[in-house]
Amino acid sequence: MKLHASLLAAACALALSACGGESRDAADTAATPTPTTTSAADGSTGAATSPATDTTAGQMPGDASTTAAGDMGGTAGTTGATTDAGTAAPSDAATADTGSQAAAGAGGCSIDMEGNDRMQFNVNSIVVPSSCTQFTINLTHTGQLPEAAMGHNVVITSTSNMAAVSADGIAAGASAGYVKSGDDRIIAATEMIGGGESTSVTFDVSKIKDGGPYQFFCSFPGHAALMKGTISVG
Ligand code: ZN
Repeated sequence: MKLHASLLAAACALALSACGGESRDAADTAATPTPTTTSAADGSTGAATSPATDTTAGQMPGDASTTAAGDMGGTAGTTGATTDAGTAAPSDAATADTGSQAAAGAGGCSIDMEGNDRMQFNVNSIVVPSSCTQFTINLTHTGQLPEAAMGHNVVITSTSNMAAVSADGIAAGASAGYVKSGDDRIIAATEMIGGGESTSVTFDVSKIKDGGPYQFFCSFPGHAALMKGTISVG
């Protein structure tokens, strides 16, 4: 009888620990997909609305954004329109520009931008209000692919330094987040993130007031060709 009881107790203890272990695992796995689930919605929206063709190439010309820069104040009020313009019309360079300008203005001294599984940012031009002393870039990866396959970050450097900074970042490797450590040509850089993740970086606006033009880009190998844009103080 005594033996039985202790066996039972042991069985109970095993069951409990197994049960406890399981629920802990379950909590872990439940916690991880949460952001992914959110981004899945975004991702499918993006997939549905953005053609897989060379739409990004259409957004490339940085000159259009320079023109749009002047309109920042006028479009600043429409936050809702910003999101629509950014995600729904990536094929229309003019619309995308308007959207990104509005995003910069509406956010005050910060901007929320997105990278996706199609190797695209939803913004190709950022105008920092001259009233800001510091500016924050919030980057969300709305895709689902992991950092190793489709990592995104935002690196800011002068246009003339961009190619060299990009090359040095690639040489620094994945473990460095494709950013060369201590590179003083870099004005700001976020960490590299994968699908469902977010990151941000804040920098002194004075650093991009003179000596431009400046650009932002993703330093993941091969991404800078598409994932780049202009950043200036307006
Ligand atoms: Zn990237």
